[in-house]
Amino acid sequence: MSRVKLLKTEVWDNDIPAICMVCGEKPAQTSHPTQMKHVFFPLNVLGIVGHMITPKKMPMNVCCCNDCKAGYLNEVNMQTIWASLKTVVLLSFVYIFTVKSAGLPKNLLIPVILMAIVLILETVYFWTIGKKNAIRCAKMDAGTVSLDLPNGKWAVAYTKYKEDKKSRRKATQAPIHDAPPPAAPSTGGDGTPPPPAQTPNLQSGFPGVESGALIAFEGMEHAQIPPQLPDFLDAVKQGDSERLEEVLKKGGDLQETMPNGMNALHLAAVAGGMQMADLLIRRGIPVNSEMANGLTAMHLAVQANNQNMVGLLLAKKGDPNHPNKEGRTPLHWCAAVADDRLDPNNRYKMANVLLRGGGDINAKDKDGNTPADLAKKTGDAKMVEVFS
Ligand SMILES: [Zn+2]
Repeated sequence: MSRVKLLKTEVWDNDIPAICMVCGEKPAQTSHPTQMKHVFFPLNVLGIVGHMITPKKMPMNVCCCNDCKAGYLNEVNMQTIWASLKTVVLLSFVYIFTVKSAGLPKNLLIPVILMAIVLILETVYFWTIGKKNAIRCAKMDAGTVSLDLPNGKWAVAYTKYKEDKKSRRKATQAPIHDAPPPAAPSTGGDGTPPPPAQTPNLQSGFPGVESGALIAFEGMEHAQIPPQLPDFLDAVKQGDSERLEEVLKKGGDLQETMPNGMNALHLAAVAGGMQMADLLIRRGIPVNSEMANGLTAMHLAVQANNQNMVGLLLAKKGDPNHPNKEGRTPLHWCAAVADDRLDPNNRYKMANVLLRGGGDINAKDKDGNTPADLAKKTGDAKMVEVFS
């Protein structure tokens, strides 16, 4: 077991390595929304009392591979079982003290034995089987959360991820998720349109990777967080579900969109808020809803380099074969879209996730190109191999 300290914002933005948190080896394929609670073991003697004295909770998505999924879900179920058993013990105490109070203290014997059995069993479980699949919260404060993970590999991957991100930021000298600064007003005065927004240059972010051949797709400029957001969409960007509920209560409209058709789910897909995206889908935003150029949240999540978000959208019945106006599916975007946020290595992983999720390798865009054709055009042999 290893302990890793993460920033809460990183967890909420899903700005963490996209590998399984249980085995620490395979790519994360599914994510499970979890209410992470600070465990005061063995102080949470009766669960309910523990719940009251340990109010520190945090929503997060636990990402794991398909092989570890069953073990992890098992562990989650075991937590429910322990909580239920402790509730039964607590109720038996209440029963003795209220209904059978005449026979005190002799009548306390059975509940005390019950409590001892449950505690011993839980303790044994905690240190044996439970350690194999459990993801537990060991510490939580205002800004960080410490997780106990079953293996040390994820912590190593996390350290490396942080280092990579630091050097990448240094190389680009720009935040990776925000929109480019507004263009300077045109000074020509002769009616010529302002120059098109500069497309990101891949080479700046990932030295050593050929960028020339990546393709500037129509509509790719929409995968940006608009600089000015109405209150409701700002809450979505921040991943602040409480504020979102407040705005909605005051009459905010969940279906409100930006001028380019970007709705809350599209925004969450770009901003990377898994919990938020999950909430929005549950609140009724269609997972395949389209914005400008016929883009769906999945196109945007691909372009924003967010493999876990793609996994979540697939799990929520997002269509990996949804064509945009040019007939390009998320798989086409994964193959060739020119955006320096999309880590070259992550392209391969993302392509595999999309293929496993039912992505059609033979889907043709309006020019008759399949994802493999586009990958060939970029000259990325490894990507061509993924599609072959
Ligand atoms: Zn795994």
